[in-house]
Amino acid sequence: MGRIAIIGAGLAGLAAARRLTKAGVSDFVVLERSSRVGGRVQTAACNGFRLDAGFHVASTAYPAFREILPAASLEPAWFDSGVLLQTRNGRVVSFHHPLRHPRKAWQSGWPPFGWWDLLQFGRLAMEALVRPGEGGIGRERQSTAQLLEQRRFSEDFVDGFLRPFFGGVFLDDDLQTSAGLLRYYLANFLLGRAFLPKGGVERLAATLRAQIPDDRFLFGQAVRGIEKGADGFRLALESGGILAASTVILALGAEETARILGWPAPRMQPTTSIYFRSRRALYPDRCLVLPRAKRPLVRHFAQVTNVDPSLAPEGVHLLSATVLDDRGLDDESLFQIALREIGGVMPAAAGLLEPLQVIRVPSALPGQTPQHLVTWRQRRATLPEGLLLAGDLAGNACQQNALQSGAHAAESALGRHR
Ligand SMILES: Cc1cc2nc3c(=O)[nH]c(=O)nc-3n(C[C@H](O)[C@H](O)[C@H](O)COP(=O)(O)OP(=O)(O)OC[C@H]3O[C@@H](n4cnc5c(N)ncnc54)[C@H](O)[C@@H]3O)c2cc1C
Repeated sequence: MGRIAIIGAGLAGLAAARRLTKAGVSDFVVLERSSRVGGRVQTAACNGFRLDAGFHVASTAYPAFREILPAASLEPAWFDSGVLLQTRNGRVVSFHHPLRHPRKAWQSGWPPFGWWDLLQFGRLAMEALVRPGEGGIGRERQSTAQLLEQRRFSEDFVDGFLRPFFGGVFLDDDLQTSAGLLRYYLANFLLGRAFLPKGGVERLAATLRAQIPDDRFLFGQAVRGIEKGADGFRLALESGGILAASTVILALGAEETARILGWPAPRMQPTTSIYFRSRRALYPDRCLVLPRAKRPLVRHFAQVTNVDPSLAPEGVHLLSATVLDDRGLDDESLFQIALREIGGVMPAAAGLLEPLQVIRVPSALPGQTPQHLVTWRQRRATLPEGLLLAGDLAGNACQQNALQSGAHAAESALGRHR
């Protein structure tokens, strides 16, 4: 059997390496440019706090959390299925899954939106449940914004719920993301439960890493280019070395994959997490809060220690505010504006929250417009045999796709070597 090279030790590369290990294959290597596993899934340890780089949640609706990385092995800390949101008159009301949280769903303030919007949303939810799979996403021609306009949702519902919530999921305030992804995530939120792996999102990578022998990893090895010859592939390393492999799994993230394959660079969406600490929780619920404002700095915020207290030292609370466009502001200005906006939703914030840390993720997710998804699908079909793709460009950019596409790529590699 020739050597299999996995390039990249993010979730996709780790899922591929885990699958090969489970199959008893030892002639494979994982080349990773940095000195750590996890890629974009990162948690920083800071004075007893555990700070994720960006706001990440996992979902039990993802099959990968049964088949590859069982949710139970991650000691899941559960979110409620719902959000707190600000109505047009500034009140904060809960908007929860009516079957899972009937008491919260029918709380005072119901309905927070007009019946037309609720009926249309119910219709969208039913459609999403009927076709929840990823299959149609690569063929979808409509953006989320176009679909919402076609369904004549009111500005109130779009600005009060759909944009802050799904804009935060896609990291795309303009909702140019494929409507296929709106249906996909809506179905996931309805069918599954959202959770944080205990201790931070990096736990996903650490749990996979523990299942792969140490000597499979080559850290600090960046691949510069790939050449296909008659007897396999030659990987040119930044260090000047050359590594031969009969099968290559590219698990690099969208930007680097496109660069190595000579494809046009995808547009990447940034995000920034602004962390605050406090002695008391700002609110008691285990859910996101969606502020209502036109083009706010803070898209949503969450008292994450309500979900997982281990993210902060004993008796201290941690709040994470998610920003899509940091407008080039320095940390001090980000803290000030974020505090003002959060205080606009929950006035107690001003006397409670203390600035802790800002974490910027400049290239978080690729822009997933319908056109981009169609183009990537077509490009994938042009790859030479033996060069396998995993991660962002193998489907849509999420944990499920990273894990599943990594495992599938390993399966294909095994097929070639049997
Ligand atoms: C802020 C943020 C929030 C997110 N939130 C969610 C969420 O809530 N739910 C969800 O499902 N998904 C979420 N995602 C998406 C999900 O985290 C990613 O889709 C997934 O982690 C991608 O994994 P990957 O292995 O494909 O890529 P990456 O994590 O990018 O891993 C690629 C690896 O390749 C390495 N590498 C790059 N170039 C080279 C090279 N030339 N040579 C060698 N190694 C190289 C990198 O160092 C990296 O380790 C989020 C992503 C971000 C950034």
